[in-house]
Amino acid sequence: MPHDLPKSYEPGAIEARWAEYWVKEKLFSVPTPPEGDARPVFTLLLPPPNVTGRLHMGHMLNQTQMDIIVRWHRMRGFVTLWLPGTDHAGIATQMMVERQLASEGKKRSELGREKFIERVWEWKRHYGGAIQDQMRRLGASVDWDREYFTMDEKLSRAVREVFVRLYEEGLIYRGKYIVNWCPRCETAVSDLEVKHQEIPGKLYEIRYPVIGTQEFITVATTRPETMLGDTAVAVNERDERYLHLHGKKVLLPLMNREIPIITDELAQPEFGTGAVKVTPAHDPNDFEAGLRHNLPQIEIMDQHARMNENAGAYAGLDRYAARKRVLEDLREQGFLVGEKDYTISIGKCDRCGTVVEPRLSTQWFIKIQPLAERAIAVVEKDYIRFTLANYQQIYLNWMRNIYDWCISRQLWWGHRIPAWHCACGEIIVARETPSSCPKCAYGSSKLRQDPDVLDTWFSSGLLPFTALGWPEETRDLEVFYPTSLLITGFDILFFWVARMVMLGCWFMAPPHRPGSDGRDARRSTSAFGKRSSGILEGRASRPSTLTEDELRDSIPFREVYIHALVRDADRQKMSKTKGNVLDPIEVIEKYGTDATRFTLAAMSSPGTDIAFNESRTEGYRAFANKIWNAARFMFMNVDRIAPGLRPSGTDGDVRPHTGIAGFEAVTLEDRWILSRFNSVTRSVNDSLASYRFDEAANAIYDFFWGEFCDWYIELIKLRLQKIDHLFNRERVVNSLKERHEKVAGLVQQVGEENLGNLRKLEEEESAGWRPTFARVSDQQIADLEKRARSKNTSDWREAITACTNLVILFEASLRLLHPVMPFITDEIWHAIYDGEPPQKSLALAAYPQADDRQIDKNTETQMAILQDLIVSVRNLRAELKVEPKVTVHIQILVNEPEIRTLIEENRQAVEHDRQSNVEMLSFAERSLAQLTNVRHTARFDVRLVYEKKVDVAAERARLTKDLEKLEKEQANGERQLGNEQFVAKAPAQVVEKLRIRVGELKGLIEKNRKNLDELDS
Ligand SMILES: [Zn+2]
Ligand SMILES: [Zn+2]
Repeated sequence: MPHDLPKSYEPGAIEARWAEYWVKEKLFSVPTPPEGDARPVFTLLLPPPNVTGRLHMGHMLNQTQMDIIVRWHRMRGFVTLWLPGTDHAGIATQMMVERQLASEGKKRSELGREKFIERVWEWKRHYGGAIQDQMRRLGASVDWDREYFTMDEKLSRAVREVFVRLYEEGLIYRGKYIVNWCPRCETAVSDLEVKHQEIPGKLYEIRYPVIGTQEFITVATTRPETMLGDTAVAVNERDERYLHLHGKKVLLPLMNREIPIITDELAQPEFGTGAVKVTPAHDPNDFEAGLRHNLPQIEIMDQHARMNENAGAYAGLDRYAARKRVLEDLREQGFLVGEKDYTISIGKCDRCGTVVEPRLSTQWFIKIQPLAERAIAVVEKDYIRFTLANYQQIYLNWMRNIYDWCISRQLWWGHRIPAWHCACGEIIVARETPSSCPKCAYGSSKLRQDPDVLDTWFSSGLLPFTALGWPEETRDLEVFYPTSLLITGFDILFFWVARMVMLGCWFMAPPHRPGSDGRDARRSTSAFGKRSSGILEGRASRPSTLTEDELRDSIPFREVYIHALVRDADRQKMSKTKGNVLDPIEVIEKYGTDATRFTLAAMSSPGTDIAFNESRTEGYRAFANKIWNAARFMFMNVDRIAPGLRPSGTDGDVRPHTGIAGFEAVTLEDRWILSRFNSVTRSVNDSLASYRFDEAANAIYDFFWGEFCDWYIELIKLRLQKIDHLFNRERVVNSLKERHEKVAGLVQQVGEENLGNLRKLEEEESAGWRPTFARVSDQQIADLEKRARSKNTSDWREAITACTNLVILFEASLRLLHPVMPFITDEIWHAIYDGEPPQKSLALAAYPQADDRQIDKNTETQMAILQDLIVSVRNLRAELKVEPKVTVHIQILVNEPEIRTLIEENRQAVEHDRQSNVEMLSFAERSLAQLTNVRHTARFDVRLVYEKKVDVAAERARLTKDLEKLEKEQANGERQLGNEQFVAKAPAQVVEKLRIRVGELKGLIEKNRKNLDELDS
């Protein structure tokens, strides 16, 4: 059956079907373009969700924006690759499996590393695909054939390669360092993974006796238990209070250890007593000071933040229990001399909420400076552009103050560090497991691989090039790198975006860029050289000098769009504790994916968080419904007026890329809608080019619903219905024909002579005349048929033109809307082509582009006047509370002859407007000012001739209200025009428009005042 659209719009039924179809048909799979393929390329990397992930509103927004941009490029003829994948998510996944084990009463340590990792893979096989399924439901048009997982064999090998190369260049080193340590997760966590919080605490003052004197030196601390690990007390060199103590020692209370008094900038005379304790193993600043003075680093806690054997009598106590005991003992022995309330800042592990402890540990680091220099250069030179400029500044500030990156994590799940420790002390960093130690020739039995794994951001930072084949010299790298755009959230700007830039600019530039062998490799010759520990020991590597082209080509993406946060309807951040988290899948099930996508797009104004309100989504579901009903109306007309009609120019794949082909602009509304379509098309393309998703969505909405459905379809009904009477006539002809045949058959049966008798009998038996046996001649039928056809050819032509225009415009509008609402548009589009579409999906059709020749501003103005007239009549009716059934007579006064012509030519549009229900339209020759029921506009006055007693008071109230409104608008306009800044900054046409409007207002206000005066007289 042609154009078979179900009666009501049920997104649930159509969306699942299309989502499956797109994937099954591999519509978004992108074969690598061959050499010589000149099509433009658009590449976008999906920020890989964690394999443990579930879709949340942030993803939904992110993916909606990406899909809109991706579909838009694909439809414009770009080779479009949207590359999907998932991240192995070290801590998150390990915690998930640990929890699973705990429910079985087991522990990770009981299983052992190998068995545990097997369990993680098993978990991944079972639960790891959830988020991809959800993405398919959203219609994300990614290339599933290229989907990766960061722990894939190929990607893991690339990770190892990067590590080894950085090590060989002296950019990876191993060192003791103060890290943020989570005693619960038993791993180092990066600064970015620590959440800081201010809480009320205490500041304790402790006095240390100075050896060989009667004096004490007083220090202050918020973590008194760390004094057990003090190895010095620092004073400032300039501080005159302590000059006489330089070079002396103090006796550390409770531990009875002699420690020196040093002079260091760590101590500031303005602060407290001016003296500070130095605990190099438990505080980052003290650590630095300790390096400057070669102080011992005494660790007093273990990995669980329990006191160890170095804590003397306190060994075995938890850190907080130790604090209590230390304070008690200090108090008892007279060393605690002060205790006051103090706001302290604590850091908590982002994953588990445990308070992190600064801890000395041996970790692997990237010496980041040389990488950061390039990452700064490419942004300063605008090779990478941030869509919102303020993010560029945030990025640069961070990058200019960057610290070495601690890349090791004490986890089991992840990319294991490719380093082996030999019993002789040698460390071997290698691509493959070494069989012997190059230094002492011990065999593999004496070699032990480093237990740590790499930070997950290390591997995800490589994705823009490793996912395209690096270190191989692949065609994919050549075609798809640098990627075009990155759309991501602010929360991973440093974690991920910054690291992709640093690593991309390093490994996609010579000498690491595949194919750049000619360049000096500058590799360290002593690949297996011993590295001594310590922060200052990283071997300096001079960044090679790159040409501008090489630098420009090394970037991982050309543009970065940072999207906003999705908050709840009251602008609150969604959080589990508040219980205001919206599950996007639930929203989708309620309103459909299309409506949910549309909501997010329409609310995405740059730099502003989205207050997600379901009532908006409900509204966009109504929008989809409106489109659906309009499509059904169209199909009903196609089937009766022009069965088999398809949009023109679709025989092959070739589609005009500008304007609308085959549209016959006959009437004002035709010319108007064609012009509007092209204007809107232009603005939508412009908006998408600058990621103004909100502007694009709202422009399409206003056009599709407001102009196309509400005005154009209503106006062309006149033409579509013109042939209704012909259908009646045709029905008559058909039934006559039928009877003719029936009677002919009867005659054959009973003979001509008996027919008369039968008819007589029939007439006698029934009261009225029944035509069953009446004879109709061939001549009569032929005459009727001829009349039906010949008399009204112009009506037919008009109807067919209107129908054709409707189909063509509808098809083009679906293409315009498709990137935002891919499901409903593909469904209707396929129906338009009766199941024989020129492409497998609307997603592969051409995106509309404006044709300036089809834009006609004059027509748009004329149409606006006509609309204004119709709306005025509707409003007058509403104000006068005229019953809908009652027809009215309107009088119009116009001064400009061309407007009178316009209205005369289109009087049918006014007369046939259902809501206006006008019986007669006439032109007044004299002013309507003295009369009631009049609406004044700048171009015309219209009066509703309606016999109803005028309620003078109500009329006065209405006019007064109108007058107030007009005066307010006038005042506003004048104020704006008086504002020099506004006049200088606003676009010229906006200012001009405002000037004209203010002029109009003056006239309107005068008219209104006059009316009021007359009412009173
Ligand atoms: Zn933790
Ligand atoms: Zn060895």
